[in-house]
Amino acid sequence: MLNLVDHSPARLLIIDDDPLLRGMAANTLRHAGFDVSEAEDGIQGLEQVRQANFDLLLLDVMMPKLDGYEVCKHVRQSPRGERVPILMLTGLHDSDSIEQAYEAGATDFISKPINWTLLSHRVRYSLRAGLAIESAMRSHERLERAQHIANMGSWELRGDGQRFVCSPELARVLAAPEEVVARGRPDDFLNRIASADRDDVRAMRLAALNEGKPYQRTFVIHRFDGAVRTVFEQAGIVIDHSGRRVAIEGITQDITDRVQAEERIKRLAHYDALTGLPNRQFFSELAGPTLDRSARLGAGCALVYIDMDRFKSVNDAIGYAQGDALLRLISMRLKASIRAADIATDGKVSNQESMVSRVGANAFTLLLVDIADEKQATLVADRLLSAIAEPITLEARDLVLTASIGIALFPRDANDVAGLTRCAEQAAYAAKSAGRAQHRFFDEAMNVRASARLASESDLRQAIAEGQLRLHYQAKVDAGTGRITGAEALVRWQHPERGMVSPGEFIPLAEESGLILPLTDWVLEKACEDLRRRADMGLQRVPVSVNLSSPSFADDGLKTQLEALLKRHRLTPSSLVLEVTETLLMSDVERAVARLQELREMGFKVSLDDFGTGYSSLGYLKRFPIDELKIDRSFVTDAWRGGRDGAIAVSVIALGRVFGLQVVAEGVETRGQSTFLLAHGCAQQQGYLFAKPVPSADFDALLGPPPGDWETDIV
Ligand code: C2E
Ligand code: MG
Ligand code: MG
Repeated sequence: MLNLVDHSPARLLIIDDDPLLRGMAANTLRHAGFDVSEAEDGIQGLEQVRQANFDLLLLDVMMPKLDGYEVCKHVRQSPRGERVPILMLTGLHDSDSIEQAYEAGATDFISKPINWTLLSHRVRYSLRAGLAIESAMRSHERLERAQHIANMGSWELRGDGQRFVCSPELARVLAAPEEVVARGRPDDFLNRIASADRDDVRAMRLAALNEGKPYQRTFVIHRFDGAVRTVFEQAGIVIDHSGRRVAIEGITQDITDRVQAEERIKRLAHYDALTGLPNRQFFSELAGPTLDRSARLGAGCALVYIDMDRFKSVNDAIGYAQGDALLRLISMRLKASIRAADIATDGKVSNQESMVSRVGANAFTLLLVDIADEKQATLVADRLLSAIAEPITLEARDLVLTASIGIALFPRDANDVAGLTRCAEQAAYAAKSAGRAQHRFFDEAMNVRASARLASESDLRQAIAEGQLRLHYQAKVDAGTGRITGAEALVRWQHPERGMVSPGEFIPLAEESGLILPLTDWVLEKACEDLRRRADMGLQRVPVSVNLSSPSFADDGLKTQLEALLKRHRLTPSSLVLEVTETLLMSDVERAVARLQELREMGFKVSLDDFGTGYSSLGYLKRFPIDELKIDRSFVTDAWRGGRDGAIAVSVIALGRVFGLQVVAEGVETRGQSTFLLAHGCAQQQGYLFAKPVPSADFDALLGPPPGDWETDIV
């Protein structure tokens, strides 16, 4: 007889105190091909069982010291003896001792006197049955292990549906207490199913039982320990040999981890991790059907593109972690102001909030539905702009952010999401070029400009390296006397194909990309070079204003760089005026104040450019050590007609006087504007009325001996 596992002879152990009988049995069985060991009493037998694996035991019942029943019980309790077939050799024919043998754990019994011819057959039969049981047990264990790994368990709903048999594995999956499992009441288990699914599952189980319909279903359960999990259940019908449906059996698998992983993946694919808003792709997916619906209803929509102004500089100044916090805050403000926006035409407010998404590092889009015209969209844009510009206190710093907003209307400008986004993005770009912190609607002219735009960073890098930049000068004039009192250096890009490109088109790109630093280096160098040359030519000496962007202003090397420049070109600090903007100063007030002080101590003059556009509070103005205010062109344009802009211009002039600052009006184009400003005490003016920005040599020509009348000499 072979051991089926390793093909060696099966190992038997005979435990019997009768040497004669033991010897005969051993001989017989050895003869039949078994590997036989012997033990002369129970103690010895147990010792051998502890030390070696046997495939079967023959155990005498009547033994001194330890009888066969005791030995049998001990064997069953030992790790190696749990499942070994045990044949009891009993000399007693009464059923009591047979019963007792089974109770002790015996597999079978052989009665004495032993029928020697049958002995090996009995042993062989027992071994085979043992192996079958063993392999069934193993596959059961494998199944249990597999179920354990898969977090699943099986169950059976018997007969009339009144008894729910829950496997130990399922009990584990459901954290079901023993008494509940033992009770086997179907409702105990059904009640754990979330109420939304419970009736469905009950109905499906009944349909399986009554109509033989198998089912599969994913649902949520409240485990017996309270944990909420998602499970997948699959059930089929059990049919007995006569073809009757006797039960349904099913497996229930806890798939919570998988579901969560899938959701995470979906979130990653669809949502921006930083703000939790839909990303660009998901926005298109959401917006598409909305546009379709609007088209059917004949309703209008507006796609709004919100591009944060100078965000790169802010990020550099406050660090990326804070920058991230700002973006989160902005995203919340956008959502809140959309939620609050009462923009639905028919009186009901639509759920606009879900349509806010983050589409770029510092860009958001949103789709406004039911927008009838530009007027409605303007209302929303204004609301968004002021929500964004709400001052932010970040770790005791005050900060004001602005955004440039572009708006495209559906179906006027485009009829799909991609087209609308493109148009709105171009409009946002136009808003940025026009001075930021404002909104623009898309128009066809933007399309033409956009296709000509060379927004490529590498082009710009090349331009700086290959000397394609030019410095133009625009005169600053005393409108009272007509004398040139200064000049603003304004950079241009002499593009090989496109001709002269204005800074509005590439300064934003330079700021975003960091190329503004080398660009400013070049401008400062060129301005100083021109100053030196004019001095050498004996021309009238006027200070030159240079625009500083935030990264240049924040750059710790600025002071040394300026010192070196002045030295190299033999210039005094008073020949340079540094123009900064409010937004730049407001991004970190403390640092800005320190830096301004430093520059002024060195002897430079500082001018606050585009004053009035940056939302800064006047309170701050007191704190900034500056020399000059430049009233933004937007207030100058309509100033002389009176109204709000005029009032702002007049109060800025008054403010300058209070703080002892020189006030310069920018963008003066008409005599009317000039006279109005002059009348209110602002003599320093800059604008096309006097001079456009011109190449360095042309500006040289404007300078000369002090003119008597500016009109003849300058224009
Ligand atoms: P800004 O510093 O406010 O410069 C004034 C802008 O107004 C200039 O535009 C100038 O050409 C324009 N301007 C002057 N007078 C009039 C007028 O009467 N009517 C009208 N419509 N416009 C007038 P430009 O040269 O296109 O510069 C635009 C902006 O680009 C500047 O605004 C400044 O913020 C930036 N920029 C220019 N050069 C530099 C530079 O070298 N470095 C930095 N960082 N920024 C620069
Ligand atoms: Mg300027
Ligand atoms: Mg300006």
